[in-house]
Amino acid sequence: MAKFIVSQKGHKKLVVDEYIFTRQRTGINNKVYWICEVRTCSSRVHTVADVIIKAPTEHNHAPLHGKVAVEEMREGMKRRAEVTEEKTRQIVHSSMTSIKLDHAHLLPGKGTLSRDVQRHRQRNGLYDLDQFKKTVNDDEFLRVNEDDMMIFAAQGKYYEIS
Ligand SMILES: [Zn+2]
Repeated sequence: MAKFIVSQKGHKKLVVDEYIFTRQRTGINNKVYWICEVRTCSSRVHTVADVIIKAPTEHNHAPLHGKVAVEEMREGMKRRAEVTEEKTRQIVHSSMTSIKLDHAHLLPGKGTLSRDVQRHRQRNGLYDLDQFKKTVNDDEFLRVNEDDMMIFAAQGKYYEIS
């Protein structure tokens, strides 16, 4: 069986010797054509039923060591956000420690990772308790940060945020 990872956008990617491949198309007899994710590289691999049937052609670059580990960590972080009730910062912190120091530069910032966890929980209808803050009336309200908007929701009344 070949090794696969799931990208941040939810796409399945093929991993061969620390090189990452993107699915190009599926041909006849379920043969899948993969191309190196480095745009300037033309290395290709073929798989059938998740088994490599044609080894990768030569790459014109070195593999980016640690990138696969970082992608796997980010995916694992989301699974953990789904199945545990740990706080976001706990999940982020302990996930980050699984990455070797010499690969740490490949990690996004803590803020990005925290948002990944929170967003993933929101999408799955799970809310991180960190996001509940108190209103002036001491009611809890939910604050959801998205890239382009901020949503406030409180039980009972609506609040105007000015
Ligand atoms: Zn390549």
